[in-house]
Amino acid sequence: ATSARKSLTIGLIPADGIGLEVIPAARKAILAVQSELPAVKFIDLLAGWNTFTRTGTALPFETVQALKECDCALFGSVSSPSRKVAGYSSPIVALRKELDLYANIRPVISVSADSASTPAVDLIVVRENTECLYVKDEKLIRTDTGKEARATRLITERASTRIGKIAFELAKARPRKLLTIIHKSNVLSVTDGLFRESVRAVPTLPGIDGKFDDVTIEEQLVDSAVYRLFREPQIYDVMVAPNLYGDIISDAAAALVGSLGVIPSINAGDNFVMGEPVHGSAPDIAGKGIANPVASIRSAALMLRHLGYTSAADKIDKAVNDTLAPAKVLTADLGGSHSTIQVTDHILGLIQQQY
Ligand code: ATP
Ligand code: MG
Repeated sequence: ATSARKSLTIGLIPADGIGLEVIPAARKAILAVQSELPAVKFIDLLAGWNTFTRTGTALPFETVQALKECDCALFGSVSSPSRKVAGYSSPIVALRKELDLYANIRPVISVSADSASTPAVDLIVVRENTECLYVKDEKLIRTDTGKEARATRLITERASTRIGKIAFELAKARPRKLLTIIHKSNVLSVTDGLFRESVRAVPTLPGIDGKFDDVTIEEQLVDSAVYRLFREPQIYDVMVAPNLYGDIISDAAAALVGSLGVIPSINAGDNFVMGEPVHGSAPDIAGKGIANPVASIRSAALMLRHLGYTSAADKIDKAVNDTLAPAKVLTADLGGSHSTIQVTDHILGLIQQQY
Protein backbone atom coordinates (compact mmCIF):
# COMPACT_ATOMS: atom_id res chain seq x y z
CA ALA A 1 0.00 0.00 0.00
CA THR A 2 1.24 3.41 -1.06
CA SER A 3 0.36 5.25 2.13
CA ALA A 4 2.19 2.71 4.26
CA ARG A 5 5.56 3.40 2.66
CA LYS A 6 7.71 5.68 4.83
CA SER A 7 10.54 5.94 2.34
CA LEU A 8 11.06 5.22 -1.32
CA THR A 9 14.38 3.62 -2.16
CA ILE A 10 15.19 3.75 -5.86
CA GLY A 11 18.03 1.80 -7.44
CA LEU A 12 19.67 3.61 -10.37
CA ILE A 13 21.42 1.48 -12.98
CA PRO A 14 22.47 3.73 -15.87
CA ALA A 15 24.62 0.87 -17.31
CA ASP A 16 26.03 1.83 -20.73
CA GLY A 17 26.00 4.39 -23.54
CA ILE A 18 23.30 7.06 -23.33
CA GLY A 19 21.94 5.36 -20.20
CA LEU A 20 24.65 7.33 -18.40
CA GLU A 21 23.15 10.57 -19.76
CA VAL A 22 19.41 9.93 -19.52
CA ILE A 23 19.09 8.20 -16.14
CA PRO A 24 20.40 11.31 -14.34
CA ALA A 25 17.61 13.25 -16.10
CA ALA A 26 15.01 10.82 -14.75
CA ARG A 27 16.52 11.16 -11.28
CA LYS A 28 16.07 14.94 -11.44
CA ALA A 29 12.45 14.54 -12.52
CA ILE A 30 11.73 12.35 -9.50
CA LEU A 31 13.42 14.87 -7.21
CA ALA A 32 11.25 17.61 -8.72
CA VAL A 33 8.10 15.85 -7.43
CA GLN A 34 9.57 14.55 -4.19
CA SER A 35 7.22 16.62 -2.03
CA GLU A 36 4.51 14.16 -3.10
CA LEU A 37 6.58 11.10 -2.31
CA PRO A 38 7.84 9.47 0.86
CA ALA A 39 11.50 10.27 1.62
CA VAL A 40 13.34 9.43 -1.60
CA LYS A 41 16.69 7.68 -1.47
CA PHE A 42 18.72 6.79 -4.55
CA ILE A 43 21.24 3.97 -4.70
CA ASP A 44 23.71 3.95 -7.61
CA LEU A 45 24.31 0.47 -8.97
CA LEU A 46 26.49 -1.14 -11.60
CA ALA A 47 25.56 -3.47 -14.46
CA GLY A 48 26.08 -3.82 -18.18
CA TRP A 49 28.83 -4.18 -20.73
CA ASN A 50 31.16 -1.61 -19.09
CA THR A 51 30.83 -3.49 -15.84
CA PHE A 52 31.46 -6.81 -17.60
CA THR A 53 34.68 -5.60 -19.22
CA ARG A 54 35.94 -4.31 -15.85
CA THR A 55 34.74 -7.06 -13.51
CA GLY A 56 33.95 -10.10 -15.65
CA THR A 57 30.24 -10.04 -14.84
CA ALA A 58 27.47 -7.95 -16.38
CA LEU A 59 25.32 -8.20 -13.26
CA PRO A 60 27.37 -8.14 -10.06
CA PHE A 61 25.96 -10.04 -7.10
CA GLU A 62 26.05 -6.81 -5.04
CA THR A 63 23.71 -5.13 -7.53
CA VAL A 64 21.12 -7.89 -7.24
CA GLN A 65 21.41 -7.89 -3.43
CA ALA A 66 21.10 -4.10 -3.25
CA LEU A 67 18.02 -4.16 -5.51
CA LYS A 68 16.28 -6.50 -3.10
CA GLU A 69 16.48 -3.67 -0.56
CA CYS A 70 14.99 -1.17 -3.04
CA ASP A 71 11.30 -0.44 -3.72
CA CYS A 72 11.93 0.05 -7.41
CA ALA A 73 14.67 0.83 -9.90
CA LEU A 74 15.48 2.67 -13.09
CA PHE A 75 17.58 0.88 -15.68
CA GLY A 76 19.34 2.75 -18.51
CA SER A 77 20.53 0.68 -21.42
CA VAL A 78 23.12 -1.96 -22.15
CA SER A 79 25.52 -2.17 -25.05
CA SER A 80 25.70 -5.69 -26.31
CA PRO A 81 28.67 -7.07 -28.20
CA SER A 82 27.99 -7.76 -31.88
CA ARG A 83 29.45 -11.25 -31.51
CA LYS A 84 28.79 -13.76 -28.74
CA VAL A 85 31.26 -13.20 -25.91
CA ALA A 86 31.99 -16.04 -23.49
CA GLY A 87 30.56 -15.34 -20.06
CA TYR A 88 28.49 -12.34 -21.13
CA SER A 89 24.72 -12.38 -20.88
CA SER A 90 22.23 -9.53 -20.76
CA PRO A 91 21.76 -8.20 -17.23
CA ILE A 92 18.26 -7.00 -18.01
CA VAL A 93 17.04 -10.49 -18.88
CA ALA A 94 18.66 -11.81 -15.69
CA LEU A 95 17.07 -9.06 -13.60
CA ARG A 96 13.61 -9.75 -14.97
CA LYS A 97 14.04 -13.36 -13.90
CA GLU A 98 15.68 -12.67 -10.57
CA LEU A 99 12.99 -10.17 -9.49
CA ASP A 100 10.09 -12.02 -11.21
CA LEU A 101 9.17 -8.98 -13.29
CA TYR A 102 6.48 -10.76 -15.26
CA ALA A 103 4.80 -7.79 -16.91
CA ASN A 104 6.32 -5.54 -19.54
CA ILE A 105 4.25 -2.40 -19.87
CA ARG A 106 4.90 -0.03 -22.75
CA PRO A 107 2.79 3.06 -23.40
CA VAL A 108 3.10 4.44 -26.91
CA ILE A 109 1.98 8.03 -27.38
CA SER A 110 2.45 10.03 -30.56
CA VAL A 111 4.60 13.11 -30.25
CA SER A 112 2.32 15.47 -32.13
CA ALA A 113 -1.33 14.59 -31.96
CA ASP A 114 -2.24 17.30 -34.46
CA SER A 115 -0.10 16.23 -37.39
CA ALA A 116 -2.22 14.82 -40.20
CA SER A 117 0.39 12.28 -41.22
CA THR A 118 0.74 10.78 -37.75
CA PRO A 119 -2.48 9.50 -36.24
CA ALA A 120 -2.93 10.34 -32.58
CA VAL A 121 -1.68 7.19 -30.94
CA ASP A 122 -2.18 6.66 -27.25
CA LEU A 123 -2.04 3.01 -26.35
CA ILE A 124 -0.38 0.64 -23.90
CA VAL A 125 1.07 -2.74 -24.80
CA VAL A 126 1.05 -5.18 -21.89
CA ARG A 127 3.33 -8.12 -22.61
CA GLU A 128 3.65 -11.30 -20.56
CA ASN A 129 7.33 -11.54 -19.83
CA THR A 130 8.14 -14.99 -18.44
CA GLU A 131 6.83 -17.75 -20.67
CA CYS A 132 5.55 -18.53 -24.18
CA LEU A 133 8.36 -19.48 -26.60
CA TYR A 134 10.83 -17.55 -24.45
CA VAL A 135 11.15 -20.41 -21.98
CA LYS A 136 13.91 -21.28 -24.48
CA ASP A 137 13.29 -25.00 -24.43
CA GLU A 138 14.63 -25.89 -27.86
CA LYS A 139 15.85 -29.16 -29.28
CA LEU A 140 17.66 -30.07 -32.46
CA ILE A 141 17.48 -33.70 -33.54
CA ARG A 142 18.57 -35.59 -36.61
CA THR A 143 15.98 -37.59 -38.52
CA ASP A 144 16.06 -39.67 -41.69
CA THR A 145 15.19 -36.58 -43.70
CA GLY A 146 17.60 -34.16 -42.03
CA LYS A 147 17.64 -31.91 -38.99
CA GLU A 148 14.53 -31.19 -37.02
CA ALA A 149 14.15 -28.33 -34.55
CA ARG A 150 11.47 -28.08 -31.92
CA ALA A 151 10.62 -25.44 -29.35
CA THR A 152 8.25 -25.66 -26.42
CA ARG A 153 5.69 -22.94 -25.92
CA LEU A 154 4.57 -22.70 -22.34
CA ILE A 155 1.34 -20.92 -21.39
CA THR A 156 0.05 -21.26 -17.84
CA GLU A 157 -3.22 -20.19 -16.28
CA ARG A 158 -1.29 -18.57 -13.43
CA ALA A 159 0.90 -16.35 -15.63
CA SER A 160 -1.95 -15.50 -18.00
CA THR A 161 -4.21 -14.56 -15.10
CA ARG A 162 -1.66 -12.32 -13.41
CA ILE A 163 -0.82 -10.47 -16.64
CA GLY A 164 -4.55 -10.21 -17.29
CA LYS A 165 -5.09 -8.55 -13.92
CA ILE A 166 -2.42 -5.94 -14.66
CA ALA A 167 -4.01 -5.24 -18.04
CA PHE A 168 -7.50 -4.84 -16.55
CA GLU A 169 -6.14 -2.46 -13.88
CA LEU A 170 -4.47 -0.33 -16.55
CA ALA A 171 -7.56 -0.31 -18.77
CA LYS A 172 -9.80 0.64 -15.87
CA ALA A 173 -7.60 3.64 -15.03
CA ARG A 174 -7.91 5.09 -18.56
CA PRO A 175 -10.74 7.13 -20.04
CA ARG A 176 -11.67 4.62 -22.76
CA LYS A 177 -11.40 1.51 -20.58
CA LEU A 178 -10.88 -0.75 -23.58
CA LEU A 179 -8.86 -3.95 -23.34
CA THR A 180 -7.90 -5.91 -26.47
CA ILE A 181 -6.68 -9.48 -25.96
CA ILE A 182 -4.21 -10.49 -28.66
CA HIS A 183 -3.91 -14.16 -29.57
CA LYS A 184 -4.03 -16.68 -32.39
CA SER A 185 -6.40 -19.19 -30.88
CA ASN A 186 -7.93 -20.08 -34.24
CA VAL A 187 -4.64 -21.93 -34.95
CA LEU A 188 -3.13 -22.49 -31.50
CA SER A 189 -6.35 -23.36 -29.76
CA VAL A 190 -4.75 -25.02 -26.73
CA THR A 191 -2.02 -22.54 -25.78
CA ASP A 192 -3.55 -19.31 -27.02
CA GLY A 193 -6.94 -20.68 -26.00
CA LEU A 194 -5.73 -20.90 -22.41
CA PHE A 195 -4.25 -17.39 -22.53
CA ARG A 196 -7.46 -15.91 -23.89
CA GLU A 197 -9.70 -17.81 -21.45
CA SER A 198 -7.54 -16.90 -18.45
CA VAL A 199 -7.52 -13.19 -19.28
CA ARG A 200 -11.25 -13.21 -20.00
CA ALA A 201 -11.90 -14.86 -16.64
CA VAL A 202 -10.17 -12.11 -14.62
CA PRO A 203 -13.36 -10.06 -14.00
CA THR A 204 -15.06 -13.16 -12.56
CA LEU A 205 -12.27 -14.08 -10.12
CA PRO A 206 -13.07 -14.14 -6.42
CA GLY A 207 -12.42 -10.79 -4.78
CA ILE A 208 -12.80 -8.75 -7.98
CA ASP A 209 -16.42 -7.97 -7.10
CA GLY A 210 -17.45 -6.23 -10.28
CA LYS A 211 -14.39 -3.95 -10.25
CA PHE A 212 -13.82 -4.43 -13.96
CA ASP A 213 -17.46 -4.29 -15.09
CA ASP A 214 -16.81 -0.99 -16.86
CA VAL A 215 -13.91 -2.37 -18.91
CA THR A 216 -14.81 -3.28 -22.49
CA ILE A 217 -13.12 -6.50 -23.64
CA GLU A 218 -12.23 -7.08 -27.26
CA GLU A 219 -10.18 -9.80 -28.90
CA GLN A 220 -8.05 -9.74 -31.99
CA LEU A 221 -5.95 -12.27 -33.86
CA VAL A 222 -2.34 -11.16 -33.78
CA ASP A 223 -1.94 -10.85 -37.54
CA SER A 224 -4.92 -8.60 -37.99
CA ALA A 225 -3.91 -6.70 -34.86
CA VAL A 226 -0.60 -5.76 -36.49
CA TYR A 227 -2.39 -4.74 -39.68
CA ARG A 228 -4.82 -2.54 -37.79
CA LEU A 229 -2.05 -1.16 -35.60
CA PHE A 230 -0.47 0.30 -38.73
CA ARG A 231 -3.72 1.32 -40.40
CA GLU A 232 -5.66 2.77 -37.48
CA PRO A 233 -3.59 2.74 -34.29
CA GLN A 234 -5.99 5.15 -32.63
CA ILE A 235 -8.55 2.32 -32.16
CA TYR A 236 -6.39 0.73 -29.47
CA ASP A 237 -6.30 1.55 -25.79
CA VAL A 238 -4.72 -1.32 -23.80
CA MET A 239 -3.47 -4.44 -25.61
CA VAL A 240 -2.50 -7.58 -23.70
CA ALA A 241 -0.50 -10.38 -25.31
CA PRO A 242 1.59 -13.47 -24.64
CA ASN A 243 5.35 -12.93 -24.71
CA LEU A 244 6.26 -13.36 -28.39
CA TYR A 245 3.29 -11.49 -29.88
CA GLY A 246 3.78 -8.80 -27.25
CA ASP A 247 7.44 -8.44 -28.19
CA ILE A 248 6.59 -7.92 -31.85
CA ILE A 249 3.60 -5.68 -31.26
CA SER A 250 5.42 -3.43 -28.84
CA ASP A 251 8.24 -2.81 -31.31
CA ALA A 252 5.77 -2.30 -34.14
CA ALA A 253 3.83 0.20 -32.02
CA ALA A 254 7.07 2.01 -31.21
CA ALA A 255 7.59 2.56 -34.95
CA LEU A 256 4.36 4.59 -35.06
CA VAL A 257 5.67 7.51 -33.07
CA GLY A 258 8.42 10.04 -33.68
CA SER A 259 11.45 8.50 -32.02
CA LEU A 260 12.65 5.66 -29.84
CA GLY A 261 13.80 8.44 -27.55
CA VAL A 262 10.28 9.10 -26.23
CA ILE A 263 9.04 5.59 -25.40
CA PRO A 264 9.12 4.42 -21.79
CA SER A 265 8.48 1.04 -20.23
CA ILE A 266 8.30 -0.69 -16.90
CA ASN A 267 8.98 -4.27 -15.97
CA ALA A 268 6.65 -5.08 -13.12
CA GLY A 269 6.20 -7.92 -10.68
CA ASP A 270 4.17 -8.30 -7.50
CA ASN A 271 6.96 -6.91 -5.33
CA PHE A 272 9.09 -4.79 -7.59
CA VAL A 273 8.95 -2.45 -10.56
CA MET A 274 11.78 -1.36 -12.83
CA GLY A 275 11.54 1.54 -15.26
CA GLU A 276 13.49 1.25 -18.49
CA PRO A 277 13.52 3.39 -21.65
CA VAL A 278 12.72 1.26 -24.70
CA HIS A 279 15.75 2.48 -26.63
CA GLY A 280 19.18 0.86 -26.42
CA SER A 281 22.54 2.37 -25.60
CA ALA A 282 22.67 4.33 -28.90
CA PRO A 283 26.45 4.10 -29.39
CA ASP A 284 26.19 6.47 -32.38
CA ILE A 285 25.27 9.42 -30.16
CA ALA A 286 26.57 8.33 -26.74
CA GLY A 287 28.75 10.83 -24.90
CA LYS A 288 27.62 13.78 -27.02
CA GLY A 289 25.02 15.12 -24.61
CA ILE A 290 22.28 15.05 -27.25
CA ALA A 291 20.26 11.95 -26.26
CA ASN A 292 16.57 12.50 -25.70
CA PRO A 293 15.84 12.17 -21.97
CA VAL A 294 12.05 11.85 -22.46
CA ALA A 295 11.91 8.02 -22.58
CA SER A 296 13.70 7.79 -19.23
CA ILE A 297 11.75 10.62 -17.62
CA ARG A 298 8.50 8.98 -18.74
CA SER A 299 9.77 5.63 -17.42
CA ALA A 300 10.25 7.26 -14.02
CA ALA A 301 6.68 8.60 -14.15
CA LEU A 302 5.32 5.21 -15.18
CA MET A 303 7.19 3.57 -12.32
CA LEU A 304 5.78 6.07 -9.81
CA ARG A 305 2.28 5.60 -11.25
CA HIS A 306 2.59 1.84 -10.88
CA LEU A 307 3.55 2.33 -7.22
CA GLY A 308 0.41 4.42 -6.72
CA TYR A 309 1.93 7.91 -6.81
CA THR A 310 -0.55 9.13 -9.39
CA SER A 311 -0.31 12.88 -8.91
CA ALA A 312 3.50 12.88 -8.95
CA ALA A 313 3.39 10.85 -12.18
CA ASP A 314 0.74 13.13 -13.67
CA LYS A 315 2.91 16.19 -13.06
CA ILE A 316 5.92 14.65 -14.79
CA ASP A 317 3.84 13.44 -17.73
CA LYS A 318 2.15 16.81 -18.13
CA ALA A 319 5.50 18.61 -18.18
CA VAL A 320 6.78 16.16 -20.81
CA ASN A 321 3.69 16.54 -22.99
CA ASP A 322 3.80 20.33 -22.63
CA THR A 323 7.39 20.22 -23.81
CA LEU A 324 6.78 17.94 -26.79
CA ALA A 325 3.54 19.49 -28.09
CA PRO A 326 4.79 23.05 -28.81
CA ALA A 327 7.93 21.44 -30.35
CA LYS A 328 10.21 24.31 -29.34
CA VAL A 329 12.65 22.57 -27.01
CA LEU A 330 13.53 19.24 -28.60
CA THR A 331 16.56 17.01 -29.06
CA ALA A 332 17.89 16.18 -32.53
CA ASP A 333 15.98 12.88 -32.88
CA LEU A 334 12.78 14.97 -32.93
CA GLY A 335 14.21 17.55 -35.29
CA GLY A 336 15.36 19.98 -32.60
CA SER A 337 18.79 21.21 -31.64
CA HIS A 338 18.63 21.21 -27.84
CA SER A 339 20.83 19.14 -25.58
CA THR A 340 19.82 16.45 -23.10
CA ILE A 341 20.33 18.93 -20.28
CA GLN A 342 18.38 21.75 -21.95
CA VAL A 343 15.37 19.51 -22.57
CA THR A 344 15.59 18.12 -19.03
CA ASP A 345 15.78 21.63 -17.53
CA HIS A 346 12.80 22.71 -19.60
CA ILE A 347 10.75 19.77 -18.30
CA LEU A 348 11.89 20.46 -14.73
CA GLY A 349 10.77 24.10 -15.11
CA LEU A 350 7.31 22.97 -16.25
CA ILE A 351 7.07 20.61 -13.27
CA GLN A 352 7.95 23.54 -10.96
CA GLN A 353 5.17 25.64 -12.49
CA GLN A 354 2.60 23.07 -11.35
CA TYR A 355 3.37 23.74 -7.67
P1 ATP B 1 21.82 -1.19 -28.74
O1 ATP B 1 22.55 -2.35 -29.31
O2 ATP B 1 22.33 -0.75 -27.42
O3 ATP B 1 20.32 -1.35 -28.76
P2 ATP B 1 21.49 0.37 -31.12
O4 ATP B 1 22.60 0.71 -32.06
O5 ATP B 1 20.48 -0.63 -31.50
O6 ATP B 1 22.14 0.05 -29.71
P3 ATP B 1 19.40 2.02 -30.13
O7 ATP B 1 19.69 2.63 -28.83
O8 ATP B 1 18.49 0.85 -30.17
O9 ATP B 1 20.80 1.74 -30.82
O10 ATP B 1 18.88 3.19 -31.06
C1 ATP B 1 18.57 3.07 -32.43
C2 ATP B 1 18.66 4.45 -33.07
O11 ATP B 1 17.81 5.39 -32.38
C3 ATP B 1 20.07 5.04 -33.00
O12 ATP B 1 20.35 5.75 -34.18
C4 ATP B 1 19.99 5.99 -31.83
O13 ATP B 1 20.89 7.07 -31.96
C5 ATP B 1 18.56 6.46 -31.84
N1 ATP B 1 18.13 6.70 -30.44
C6 ATP B 1 17.85 5.77 -29.52
N2 ATP B 1 17.55 6.31 -28.34
C7 ATP B 1 17.67 7.63 -28.50
C8 ATP B 1 17.50 8.75 -27.62
N3 ATP B 1 17.15 8.61 -26.33
N4 ATP B 1 17.72 9.98 -28.12
C9 ATP B 1 18.06 10.15 -29.41
N5 ATP B 1 18.23 9.15 -30.28
C10 ATP B 1 18.04 7.90 -29.84
MG1 MG C 1 18.73 -1.41 -30.36
